[in-house]
Amino acid sequence: MFNDVISFIQDLYKGEKFIPLHAPIFSGNEKKYVNEAIDSTFVSSVGAFVDRFEVEFAKYVGAKKAVVTGNGTSALHAALHLLGVSHGDEVLTQALTFVATPNAISYCGAHPVFLDSDAETLGLSVISLHRFLESHAEVRAGVCYNKKTGRRIMACLPMHVFGHPVKIEDIVKICDSYNVPVIEDAAESLGSFYNGVHTGLFGKIGVFSFNGNKIITSGGGGMLVTNDEALGKRAKHLTTTAKVPHAWEFFHDEIGFNYRMPNLNAALIVGQLEQLPFFVENKRATAEMYRQFFEKKGIQFFVEPEKAKSNYWLNAILLSDRKERDAFLHETNRQGVMTRPVWNLMPDLPMYKSAYSEDLTVARSLADRIVNIPSSVRHS
Ligand SMILES: *Cc1c(COP(=O)(O)O)cnc(C)c1O
Repeated sequence: MFNDVISFIQDLYKGEKFIPLHAPIFSGNEKKYVNEAIDSTFVSSVGAFVDRFEVEFAKYVGAKKAVVTGNGTSALHAALHLLGVSHGDEVLTQALTFVATPNAISYCGAHPVFLDSDAETLGLSVISLHRFLESHAEVRAGVCYNKKTGRRIMACLPMHVFGHPVKIEDIVKICDSYNVPVIEDAAESLGSFYNGVHTGLFGKIGVFSFNGNKIITSGGGGMLVTNDEALGKRAKHLTTTAKVPHAWEFFHDEIGFNYRMPNLNAALIVGQLEQLPFFVENKRATAEMYRQFFEKKGIQFFVEPEKAKSNYWLNAILLSDRKERDAFLHETNRQGVMTRPVWNLMPDLPMYKSAYSEDLTVARSLADRIVNIPSSVRHS
């Protein structure tokens, strides 16, 4: 019964034998720049491509400052640490996300609080956030506390799922009224805008990932962006061992992290970043073909939310129940069309079983039924 879907995807990807979910392509200056990095001998933690990537990335997203890191998870950890999240605090996030989101919270010794999802954006539900804060939060001397646990609520960490922007303006507005700073997990949403502003720039800090399956890759990498210059400067300091600049002295003024991206990886991604506008347009065109196809089939295909321009990093459909989802996963993968379910809900993982969760009705229904379908940039 899924054969028309499978042949549609095979046609879209020109009959490749195996169609991956998301494969990188290196069709620009990547090899040239990597060779330049090798020839310069600067392959490691400092180099011209690191600086160049930070400048060009900041320009693309429209941020005052961008600080590159070794991966997205370390960027999330550094972002939380920079906002003072520490042992015993709480951080609000969504139950339906990739495990790196709550793991970064845990690295700070803090407790994730899992909220429900929005059925339209797939991200953090504004209603669930509002309900939690109304019933649990209290601001004393400018600090937000959870009345029931006595813990500080130090941040809110929404994630833009599959590149589709969440209702970020509403989230920031509610969090502002409780003095809770927002960090955006924009790991999947490079190239996605909300109300004309790039994702990652609504909260205090935005975080990106350049893992191999993301829209552009450095092999592995991450980035923090902010419009707060002082915070940006501190982010660079903290992620580069907190060394006070000096020609020869080793003086470090706090416990910093070695979260740097090697220049070799930066060279690769400078080449990737040049192609990002083309990748986004190519993926948006693919999504439009999927949309038209699934509309005719009567299967729900996720489109960009209202006010959003999405990068359509991973395309997703919603099947009717878990049983149909499993049959679809089985048949597509058997025929060489790679598909994947969405993540398990975080509170269903052993280490987050005892974490606090709000009512997760929407997240659970999405987790049972979402399937990601092949979404790589198509060669013309
Ligand atoms: C990919 C991803 C990350 C982490 O990125 P890494 O670079 O793999 O550490 C974090 N959050 C989300 C939502 C992601 O998809």
